[in-house]
Amino acid sequence: MNKMMNAAIAYEFGKPLVVESIPVPDVPSGMILVKLVACGVCHSDLHAVNGDWPIKPKLPLIPGHEGVGIVESVGEGVIGIKEGDRVGVPWLYKACGKCEYCLSGWETLCEQQLNTGYSVDGCYAQYIIADPNYVAHLPANLGFFEAASILCAGLTVYKGIKETEVKSGDWIVISGVGGLGHLAIQYAKAMGIRVIALDIHEEQLELAKSLKADIVINVAKEDPIKKIKTAISGAHGVLVTAVSPNSFSQGVDMLRRKGVMVLVGLPSGKFELSIFDTVLNRKTVRGSIVGTRMDLIESLDFAARGLVTVHYTKDKLENINNIFSAMKSNKITGRIIIAL
Ligand code: NAD
Ligand code: ZN
Ligand code: ZN
Repeated sequence: MNKMMNAAIAYEFGKPLVVESIPVPDVPSGMILVKLVACGVCHSDLHAVNGDWPIKPKLPLIPGHEGVGIVESVGEGVIGIKEGDRVGVPWLYKACGKCEYCLSGWETLCEQQLNTGYSVDGCYAQYIIADPNYVAHLPANLGFFEAASILCAGLTVYKGIKETEVKSGDWIVISGVGGLGHLAIQYAKAMGIRVIALDIHEEQLELAKSLKADIVINVAKEDPIKKIKTAISGAHGVLVTAVSPNSFSQGVDMLRRKGVMVLVGLPSGKFELSIFDTVLNRKTVRGSIVGTRMDLIESLDFAARGLVTVHYTKDKLENINNIFSAMKSNKITGRIIIAL
């Protein structure tokens, strides 16, 4: 008889998750069993359980890809990781390791990749089977709750900022100050980049101010394009984390000549791009998906050095449907992290 664990399971898109007791899976050879301590709630989990994206997740599904915990047991043949190690299980569950993307340090683009809490069961559970080659090793001085949301939110914005190609002293717009955005402000400031933070809620903008954003704009009340053009003649980079297609079309207009806009927010939909404006002003619009294992090491290191701190509220697995409702109406400041 297997040991039992609690897990939050989505059976149908758009329906509440069900918290159930299910057997702890056996650890296959080459894999590890992780006893999870905490998991952050990412907006992508909400997209997953709503079936928002063109490629659908498995159903039934245990969501969650910001899981952290302790290695409970290792499967046959596993080397380089042992019982008791502190690890994190990110969105990139595993990749093939052999294709042109894997071989060139772009494993996040591997066409054979599996994704935690999407194509395989994730971390809204007390245990997970993980691939030892793709888990993060948590820095010794970083607590579990402090590390959890670096696994996706921190990693994604750290990579996204690099993808804007902004340099120390340049201006970046962080559009959306949610789980991702509040960390983006801190990574940017730590890199010496000047920050304009945009959101539609005062609570988030207050957090942005406390994190030393140089300018904050409530886009529900003020025209951000006019304000940015007047204040700084356009930004060098824009990182869009907001879950609103309108933020993407507005973001392009916030750029100065030669600027780069990076898309990380994933609302379903499209936005218009002016060919003339893009060509004449040599603008770049680029997507960015999480980050590689190397990016993950680097983004965790910023947190371990105290340069980036996740502002979180602890919650319970049983409360997951209320957490999702709050997320849908943008009522969360920082991140909710589930204690498992
Ligand atoms: P979140 O719900 O914590 O934050 C979203 C924030 O956007 C909220 O603060 C909200 O008030 C703000 N917002 C909403 N509409 C806005 C608007 N018009 N202008 C400015 N701000 C607005 O979500 P999150 O967990 O930070 O995730 C954000 C998005 O990023 C989601 O779509 C998620 O799926 C996506 N994501 C992408 C990647 C990737 O690799 N590309 C990784 C993680 C998350
Ligand atoms: Zn995520
Ligand atoms: Zn590959």
